[in-house]
Amino acid sequence: MSDYVKDLMAEVKAKHPAQPEFHQAVQEVAESLDLVLERHPEYRSAKILERIIEPERVIIFRVPWVDDQGEVNINIGFRIEMNSAIGPYKGGLRFHPSVNLGILKFLAFEQVFKNSLTSLPMGGGKGGSDFDPKGKSDLKIMRFCQAFMSELFRHIGPNTDVPAGDIGVGGREIGYLFGQYKKLRNEFTGVLTGKGLNWGGSLIRPEATGYGAVYFAAEMLTTRNQTLEDKICLVSGSGNVAQYTVEKILELGGKVVTLSDSNGYIYDEAGINKEKLNFIMELKNVRRGRIKEYVDKYKSAVYTAFDPYIDHNPLWDHKADCAFPSATQNEINWIDAQNLVKNGVYVVSEGANMPTTIEGVNIFLDKKILYGPGKAANAGGVSVSGLEMSQNSQRLPWTREEVDARLQLIMKNIHATCVEMADRFGTPGNYVNGANIGGFLKVADAMIDQGVV
Ligand code: NAP
Repeated sequence: MSDYVKDLMAEVKAKHPAQPEFHQAVQEVAESLDLVLERHPEYRSAKILERIIEPERVIIFRVPWVDDQGEVNINIGFRIEMNSAIGPYKGGLRFHPSVNLGILKFLAFEQVFKNSLTSLPMGGGKGGSDFDPKGKSDLKIMRFCQAFMSELFRHIGPNTDVPAGDIGVGGREIGYLFGQYKKLRNEFTGVLTGKGLNWGGSLIRPEATGYGAVYFAAEMLTTRNQTLEDKICLVSGSGNVAQYTVEKILELGGKVVTLSDSNGYIYDEAGINKEKLNFIMELKNVRRGRIKEYVDKYKSAVYTAFDPYIDHNPLWDHKADCAFPSATQNEINWIDAQNLVKNGVYVVSEGANMPTTIEGVNIFLDKKILYGPGKAANAGGVSVSGLEMSQNSQRLPWTREEVDARLQLIMKNIHATCVEMADRFGTPGNYVNGANIGGFLKVADAMIDQGVV
């Protein structure tokens, strides 16, 4: 780490204490950008890095709502408008009890680089609430979403800031949020993405993040003249990203043996086939049950509850070729990274945002496995969100084939950018540097063009 990055990190930590995830995200990017700043002193003199780590605007608000028993509840709402140099703020909303300012700032920061990599005109943002949707009735969810949007609507718009889903925010929540926005503004616009198909949504948007992570893995494999055919894959999570990751792996001939939720994971040596995936989709999206129920139905599988006192995640300790972390941040620590490598995994494509700790990432880089960091590998979701915005502006829906073809092309181009940038800056095969540098350059140049604003 250079003195410049060390000083920058010391300042970030002093200014924004108690935001460890944000520090982690900044450090990873700053270390890659050291290579760029050496060759381009103009970015340093314009203080681009110092500016890019400060959100343009942070909105924090009270969300009071009354539940179906008449009880008053209070949650905190957030929207981080991180960077609008190349387009309107764009990024998801997360509803989860762990949500806080530091987590949303890390997500918004990552989003800036990810959105730039897609080559679509989107700035970066992120938002959400500490509201926990798990186990709540549809009525409670609707009331919360309406209360949340009753403040958020003032700050967003189709040319200003366009939120989407993330953990805890799927099609149901986007529907309630959109309905309230429309009522308050009295206008029907593409202000959110991930909408229902018959009211402005795009085909392939629900599938896009998972499909994209698999397309990215397939691209990485082509650099070694290989495909996903017959590869054994570990997938974590069982939500939106995990489900469509499994679907695409199956289509490309791979075998998936794990899935999880926050309570535990299942290992199914026989493989999770299409019929079993349909069961999971119904379990998670309709009945909103727990992954544990999988083993009641499929006796070939074993369920292991997560033990909060052990220092690693046993899901990552099985023989496999590929891993697709698709649950949450820091779900792979250095022990997990070592276990993965020891068990033969040589492809990691991150569907989740920052699922690997810095120590874990360093193990992947040292071992020279094919490691696709989240801001590149999971950019398919926001890419199709960008395509949804285009369709909304044109007022013309595209076919499934057209959207999927564009998604595949975007993932191919992101992969090519990562490879090219890693090469150009002297670290061939390092997708972390490739993604950080590729995402940074476009935003940095736009910030210089637009002056100090
Ligand atoms: P989701 O549908 O809400 O699913 C999240 C899954 O992860 C659930 O199985 C959940 O289990 C599990 N999970 C959440 N928090 C966890 C924790 N602290 N420990 C263990 N498991 C946990 O969300 P998603 O949209 O699939 O998002 C998953 C990841 O992908 C996130 O990192 C998100 O930021 C990233 N991502 C999503 C998109 C998108 O388009 N949706 C795009 C890019 C990146 P429980 O049900 O038990 O909580």
